[in-house]
Amino acid sequence: KEKLVEVRDLKKHFKLDRKHILKAVDGITFDIYRGETFGLVGESGCGKSTAGRTIMRMYDATDGEVDYAGENIHQHYSKADLMRFNKSIQMIFQDPYASLNPRMTVKDIIAEGVDIHGLIKTRAERMERVYELLDLVGLNKDHASRFPHEFSGGQRQRIGIARALAVNPDFIVADEPISALDVSIQAQIVNLLKKLQREQGLTYLFIAHDLSMVKHISDRVGVMYLGKMVEIAKSDEMYREPLHPYTQALISAIPVPNPSRERTRERIILEGDVPSPVDPPSGCSFRTRCPLAMDVCVEVVPEWREHKEDHWVACHLYDERYREV
Ligand code: SF4
Ligand code: MG
Repeated sequence: KEKLVEVRDLKKHFKLDRKHILKAVDGITFDIYRGETFGLVGESGCGKSTAGRTIMRMYDATDGEVDYAGENIHQHYSKADLMRFNKSIQMIFQDPYASLNPRMTVKDIIAEGVDIHGLIKTRAERMERVYELLDLVGLNKDHASRFPHEFSGGQRQRIGIARALAVNPDFIVADEPISALDVSIQAQIVNLLKKLQREQGLTYLFIAHDLSMVKHISDRVGVMYLGKMVEIAKSDEMYREPLHPYTQALISAIPVPNPSRERTRERIILEGDVPSPVDPPSGCSFRTRCPLAMDVCVEVVPEWREHKEDHWVACHLYDERYREV
Protein backbone atom coordinates (compact mmCIF):
# COMPACT_ATOMS: atom_id res chain seq x y z
CA LYS A 1 0.00 0.00 0.00
CA GLU A 2 1.43 3.31 -1.08
CA LYS A 3 0.93 6.26 1.26
CA LEU A 4 -0.34 9.29 -0.67
CA VAL A 5 -0.94 11.53 2.35
CA GLU A 6 0.97 11.28 5.63
CA VAL A 7 -0.33 13.43 8.45
CA ARG A 8 2.01 13.79 11.45
CA ASP A 9 0.88 15.38 14.71
CA LEU A 10 -1.03 18.03 12.77
CA LYS A 11 -2.42 20.97 14.74
CA LYS A 12 -4.61 23.87 13.74
CA HIS A 13 -5.33 26.35 16.51
CA PHE A 14 -7.28 29.57 16.09
CA LYS A 15 -6.53 32.49 18.38
CA LEU A 16 -9.90 33.86 19.46
CA ASP A 17 -8.63 36.69 21.64
CA ARG A 18 -5.69 37.33 23.98
CA LYS A 19 -6.65 34.56 26.38
CA HIS A 20 -8.51 31.98 24.34
CA ILE A 21 -7.26 29.53 21.77
CA LEU A 22 -9.59 27.23 19.86
CA LYS A 23 -7.76 23.95 19.38
CA ALA A 24 -9.81 22.84 16.39
CA VAL A 25 -7.30 20.17 15.40
CA ASP A 26 -4.97 19.15 18.20
CA GLY A 27 -2.36 16.65 17.07
CA ILE A 28 -3.67 14.05 14.62
CA THR A 29 -1.52 11.38 12.98
CA PHE A 30 -2.62 9.06 10.19
CA ASP A 31 -2.01 8.02 6.56
CA ILE A 32 -4.23 7.97 3.51
CA TYR A 33 -3.32 5.29 0.96
CA ARG A 34 -3.36 5.95 -2.75
CA GLY A 35 -6.65 4.93 -4.34
CA GLU A 36 -8.62 4.50 -1.11
CA THR A 37 -11.49 6.39 0.41
CA PHE A 38 -10.70 7.46 3.95
CA GLY A 39 -13.89 8.40 5.81
CA LEU A 40 -13.47 11.01 8.55
CA VAL A 41 -16.37 11.29 10.99
CA GLY A 42 -17.36 13.05 14.19
CA GLU A 43 -20.02 15.37 15.60
CA SER A 44 -20.11 18.95 14.33
CA GLY A 45 -17.34 21.03 15.87
CA CYS A 46 -15.00 18.04 16.34
CA GLY A 47 -12.50 19.54 13.87
CA LYS A 48 -12.98 17.29 10.85
CA SER A 49 -13.54 20.09 8.31
CA THR A 50 -10.63 22.05 9.71
CA ALA A 51 -8.50 18.90 9.49
CA GLY A 52 -9.47 18.45 5.82
CA ARG A 53 -8.72 22.07 5.00
CA THR A 54 -5.40 22.06 6.82
CA ILE A 55 -4.32 18.81 5.18
CA MET A 56 -4.95 20.29 1.72
CA ARG A 57 -3.20 23.50 2.75
CA MET A 58 -6.25 25.74 2.46
CA TYR A 59 -5.25 26.68 6.04
CA ASP A 60 -1.70 26.98 7.33
CA ALA A 61 -0.94 24.39 9.99
CA THR A 62 -0.16 25.62 13.51
CA ASP A 63 2.18 22.67 13.98
CA GLY A 64 2.95 19.25 12.53
CA GLU A 65 3.60 17.95 9.02
CA VAL A 66 1.72 16.79 5.97
CA ASP A 67 3.59 14.82 3.36
CA TYR A 68 1.85 14.57 0.01
CA ALA A 69 3.27 12.03 -2.46
CA GLY A 70 6.48 12.15 -0.42
CA GLU A 71 6.82 15.95 -0.31
CA ASN A 72 6.18 18.10 2.75
CA ILE A 73 3.53 20.50 1.50
CA HIS A 74 3.55 22.77 4.52
CA GLN A 75 7.14 23.86 3.94
CA HIS A 76 7.99 26.89 1.90
CA TYR A 77 7.67 26.25 -1.76
CA SER A 78 7.99 28.20 -4.96
CA LYS A 79 4.88 29.49 -6.68
CA ALA A 80 5.22 26.78 -9.32
CA ASP A 81 5.30 24.04 -6.66
CA LEU A 82 2.24 25.48 -4.97
CA MET A 83 0.38 25.56 -8.28
CA ARG A 84 1.32 21.93 -8.79
CA PHE A 85 -0.09 20.93 -5.38
CA ASN A 86 -3.20 23.05 -5.92
CA LYS A 87 -3.86 21.24 -9.15
CA SER A 88 -3.36 17.78 -7.69
CA ILE A 89 -5.56 18.36 -4.63
CA GLN A 90 -9.14 19.52 -5.07
CA MET A 91 -12.14 20.01 -2.80
CA ILE A 92 -15.83 19.22 -3.04
CA PHE A 93 -17.93 21.31 -0.67
CA GLN A 94 -20.89 20.52 1.54
CA ASP A 95 -23.20 23.17 0.23
CA PRO A 96 -23.59 23.07 -3.55
CA TYR A 97 -25.73 26.23 -3.27
CA ALA A 98 -23.13 28.40 -1.60
CA SER A 99 -20.03 27.06 -3.31
CA LEU A 100 -20.98 27.93 -6.91
CA ASN A 101 -20.78 31.56 -8.00
CA PRO A 102 -24.38 32.47 -8.97
CA ARG A 103 -23.23 34.96 -11.62
CA MET A 104 -21.10 32.51 -13.54
CA THR A 105 -22.32 30.08 -16.16
CA VAL A 106 -21.75 26.40 -15.59
CA LYS A 107 -19.07 26.28 -18.29
CA ASP A 108 -17.10 29.12 -16.69
CA ILE A 109 -17.43 27.54 -13.25
CA ILE A 110 -16.18 24.19 -14.53
CA ALA A 111 -13.38 25.67 -16.65
CA GLU A 112 -12.09 28.02 -13.93
CA GLY A 113 -9.32 25.67 -12.78
CA VAL A 114 -8.37 24.86 -16.34
CA ASP A 115 -8.04 28.62 -17.03
CA ILE A 116 -6.04 29.32 -13.86
CA HIS A 117 -3.59 26.55 -14.59
CA GLY A 118 -3.40 27.44 -18.30
CA LEU A 119 -4.12 23.86 -19.30
CA ILE A 120 -5.98 24.64 -22.50
CA LYS A 121 -5.08 26.90 -25.40
CA THR A 122 -8.09 27.36 -27.66
CA ARG A 123 -11.75 28.16 -27.02
CA ALA A 124 -12.80 25.07 -28.91
CA GLU A 125 -10.62 22.84 -26.73
CA ARG A 126 -12.04 24.54 -23.64
CA MET A 127 -15.63 23.82 -24.72
CA GLU A 128 -14.64 20.27 -25.59
CA ARG A 129 -13.26 19.78 -22.08
CA VAL A 130 -16.38 21.27 -20.46
CA TYR A 131 -18.64 18.91 -22.47
CA GLU A 132 -16.45 15.97 -21.54
CA LEU A 133 -16.68 16.86 -17.84
CA LEU A 134 -20.45 17.41 -17.96
CA ASP A 135 -20.81 13.98 -19.51
CA LEU A 136 -18.53 12.46 -16.88
CA VAL A 137 -20.78 13.65 -14.05
CA GLY A 138 -24.06 12.78 -15.76
CA LEU A 139 -25.02 16.22 -17.09
CA ASN A 140 -25.14 17.29 -20.75
CA LYS A 141 -24.09 19.97 -23.25
CA ASP A 142 -27.32 21.92 -22.85
CA HIS A 143 -26.38 22.65 -19.25
CA ALA A 144 -23.15 24.50 -20.15
CA SER A 145 -24.59 27.98 -20.65
CA ARG A 146 -27.00 27.94 -17.74
CA PHE A 147 -26.58 29.40 -14.25
CA PRO A 148 -26.40 27.49 -10.93
CA HIS A 149 -29.88 28.56 -9.73
CA GLU A 150 -31.46 26.67 -12.63
CA PHE A 151 -30.34 23.34 -11.15
CA SER A 152 -31.46 21.07 -8.32
CA GLY A 153 -29.23 20.37 -5.31
CA GLY A 154 -28.02 17.06 -6.71
CA GLN A 155 -27.24 18.63 -10.11
CA ARG A 156 -25.35 21.45 -8.44
CA GLN A 157 -23.25 18.94 -6.56
CA ARG A 158 -22.51 17.28 -9.93
CA ILE A 159 -21.32 20.68 -11.20
CA GLY A 160 -19.11 21.02 -8.12
CA ILE A 161 -17.65 17.59 -8.82
CA ALA A 162 -17.01 18.46 -12.48
CA ARG A 163 -15.22 21.64 -11.37
CA ALA A 164 -13.00 19.61 -9.01
CA LEU A 165 -12.18 17.06 -11.72
CA ALA A 166 -11.40 19.63 -14.41
CA VAL A 167 -7.70 19.82 -13.57
CA ASN A 168 -7.20 16.04 -13.30
CA PRO A 169 -6.53 15.87 -9.56
CA ASP A 170 -5.21 12.82 -7.69
CA PHE A 171 -6.65 13.60 -4.27
CA ILE A 172 -10.06 15.01 -3.39
CA VAL A 173 -11.16 16.30 -0.01
CA ALA A 174 -14.95 15.92 0.01
CA ASP A 175 -16.35 17.88 2.95
CA GLU A 176 -19.78 16.44 3.71
CA PRO A 177 -20.64 16.31 -0.01
CA ILE A 178 -24.02 14.63 0.53
CA SER A 179 -25.17 16.05 3.88
CA ALA A 180 -27.16 18.90 2.32
CA LEU A 181 -28.90 16.68 -0.24
CA ASP A 182 -32.20 14.79 -0.07
CA VAL A 183 -31.79 11.19 1.04
CA SER A 184 -33.02 10.01 -2.36
CA ILE A 185 -30.21 11.91 -4.09
CA GLN A 186 -27.42 10.95 -1.67
CA ALA A 187 -26.95 7.44 -3.07
CA GLN A 188 -26.69 8.81 -6.62
CA ILE A 189 -23.89 11.17 -5.66
CA VAL A 190 -22.09 8.45 -3.69
CA ASN A 191 -22.34 6.11 -6.70
CA LEU A 192 -21.03 8.84 -8.99
CA LEU A 193 -18.07 9.48 -6.68
CA LYS A 194 -17.30 5.74 -6.61
CA LYS A 195 -17.49 5.46 -10.40
CA LEU A 196 -15.18 8.46 -10.84
CA GLN A 197 -12.75 6.99 -8.31
CA ARG A 198 -12.49 3.77 -10.33
CA GLU A 199 -12.21 5.54 -13.69
CA GLN A 200 -9.79 8.27 -12.65
CA GLY A 201 -7.81 6.50 -9.92
CA LEU A 202 -8.77 9.10 -7.31
CA THR A 203 -8.02 9.09 -3.59
CA TYR A 204 -10.72 10.55 -1.34
CA LEU A 205 -10.82 12.06 2.11
CA PHE A 206 -14.56 11.81 2.69
CA ILE A 207 -15.78 13.89 5.63
CA ALA A 208 -19.18 13.16 7.21
CA HIS A 209 -20.90 13.78 10.54
CA ASP A 210 -22.49 10.36 10.61
CA LEU A 211 -20.87 6.93 10.54
CA SER A 212 -23.69 5.33 8.56
CA MET A 213 -23.01 7.79 5.72
CA VAL A 214 -19.41 6.69 5.24
CA LYS A 215 -20.04 2.99 5.81
CA HIS A 216 -20.50 2.08 2.17
CA ILE A 217 -18.04 4.42 0.52
CA SER A 218 -15.01 4.15 2.85
CA ASP A 219 -12.21 1.59 2.87
CA ARG A 220 -11.08 2.89 6.24
CA VAL A 221 -12.69 5.20 8.74
CA GLY A 222 -11.26 7.64 11.28
CA VAL A 223 -13.30 9.00 14.19
CA MET A 224 -12.52 12.43 15.64
CA TYR A 225 -13.59 13.86 18.98
CA LEU A 226 -12.69 17.38 20.18
CA GLY A 227 -9.83 17.92 17.73
CA LYS A 228 -8.25 14.50 18.24
CA MET A 229 -8.41 11.23 16.36
CA VAL A 230 -9.76 8.57 18.71
CA GLU A 231 -9.90 5.52 16.42
CA ILE A 232 -9.02 4.38 12.89
CA ALA A 233 -9.90 0.99 11.41
CA LYS A 234 -10.92 -0.69 8.19
CA SER A 235 -14.55 0.16 7.58
CA ASP A 236 -16.01 -3.32 8.19
CA GLU A 237 -13.84 -3.89 11.25
CA MET A 238 -14.90 -0.53 12.71
CA TYR A 239 -18.55 -1.61 12.56
CA ARG A 240 -17.91 -5.13 13.74
CA GLU A 241 -15.47 -4.40 16.52
CA PRO A 242 -15.28 -0.75 17.55
CA LEU A 243 -12.75 -0.30 20.36
CA HIS A 244 -13.16 3.27 21.56
CA PRO A 245 -16.19 3.93 23.81
CA TYR A 246 -17.07 6.95 21.65
CA THR A 247 -17.09 4.89 18.46
CA GLN A 248 -19.10 2.21 20.25
CA ALA A 249 -21.70 4.83 21.17
CA LEU A 250 -21.85 6.21 17.61
CA ILE A 251 -22.31 2.74 16.15
CA SER A 252 -24.92 1.74 18.72
CA ALA A 253 -26.95 4.76 17.57
CA ILE A 254 -27.15 3.57 13.95
CA PRO A 255 -30.56 2.01 13.34
CA VAL A 256 -30.32 -1.67 12.36
CA PRO A 257 -32.31 -2.31 9.16
CA ASN A 258 -33.27 -5.86 10.04
CA PRO A 259 -32.92 -6.48 13.78
CA SER A 260 -33.89 -10.16 13.53
CA ARG A 261 -30.91 -10.93 11.29
CA GLU A 262 -28.22 -8.64 12.60
CA ARG A 263 -26.67 -8.89 16.02
CA THR A 264 -28.23 -6.11 18.02
CA ARG A 265 -25.89 -3.91 19.91
CA GLU A 266 -27.06 -2.33 23.10
CA ARG A 267 -27.71 1.34 22.61
CA ILE A 268 -25.19 3.49 24.48
CA ILE A 269 -26.57 6.91 25.28
CA LEU A 270 -23.91 9.56 25.81
CA GLU A 271 -24.59 11.95 28.65
CA GLY A 272 -23.96 15.66 28.33
CA ASP A 273 -22.77 17.87 25.50
CA VAL A 274 -19.44 17.97 23.71
CA PRO A 275 -17.20 20.19 25.88
CA SER A 276 -15.81 23.39 24.35
CA PRO A 277 -12.61 22.88 22.35
CA VAL A 278 -11.45 26.19 23.87
CA ASP A 279 -11.34 24.53 27.29
CA PRO A 280 -11.18 20.75 26.78
CA PRO A 281 -11.14 18.34 29.77
CA SER A 282 -7.76 17.24 31.18
CA GLY A 283 -6.47 13.75 30.40
CA CYS A 284 -8.75 12.00 27.94
CA SER A 285 -10.97 14.64 26.37
CA PHE A 286 -13.84 12.13 26.14
CA ARG A 287 -13.80 11.34 29.87
CA THR A 288 -16.70 13.68 30.77
CA ARG A 289 -19.03 11.55 28.63
CA CYS A 290 -17.35 8.16 28.76
CA PRO A 291 -19.36 5.42 30.50
CA LEU A 292 -16.12 3.48 31.18
CA ALA A 293 -13.90 6.31 32.46
CA MET A 294 -11.27 5.37 35.08
CA ASP A 295 -9.27 7.51 37.50
CA VAL A 296 -6.29 7.60 35.18
CA CYS A 297 -8.44 9.16 32.42
CA VAL A 298 -8.57 12.45 34.39
CA GLU A 299 -4.79 12.78 34.54
CA VAL A 300 -3.23 11.10 31.56
CA VAL A 301 -3.80 11.77 27.86
CA PRO A 302 -4.26 8.39 26.14
CA GLU A 303 -1.57 7.45 23.63
CA TRP A 304 -2.37 6.97 19.97
CA ARG A 305 -1.40 3.32 19.41
CA GLU A 306 -1.85 0.54 16.88
CA HIS A 307 -3.84 -1.97 18.94
CA LYS A 308 -3.74 -4.50 16.14
CA GLU A 309 -2.75 -4.31 12.51
CA ASP A 310 -4.33 -1.28 10.87
CA HIS A 311 -6.53 -0.62 13.88
CA TRP A 312 -5.53 2.43 15.90
CA VAL A 313 -7.10 3.70 19.11
CA ALA A 314 -6.47 6.30 21.81
CA CYS A 315 -7.97 4.87 25.01
CA HIS A 316 -6.49 3.64 28.30
CA LEU A 317 -8.70 0.53 28.23
CA TYR A 318 -6.30 -0.92 25.65
CA ASP A 319 -3.15 0.01 27.52
CA GLU A 320 -1.92 -2.80 29.85
CA ARG A 321 -0.50 -0.19 32.19
CA TYR A 322 -3.90 1.23 33.07
CA ARG A 323 -6.43 -1.46 32.47
CA GLU A 324 -8.29 -2.14 35.71
CA VAL A 325 -9.69 -5.56 34.87
FE1 SF4 B 1 -13.04 6.46 28.32
FE2 SF4 B 1 -10.74 6.59 29.64
FE3 SF4 B 1 -10.84 5.43 27.26
FE4 SF4 B 1 -11.06 8.07 27.51
S1 SF4 B 1 -9.28 6.85 28.00
S2 SF4 B 1 -12.31 6.76 26.23
S3 SF4 B 1 -12.23 8.23 29.40
S4 SF4 B 1 -11.86 4.75 29.14
MG1 MG C 1 -17.98 20.90 8.76
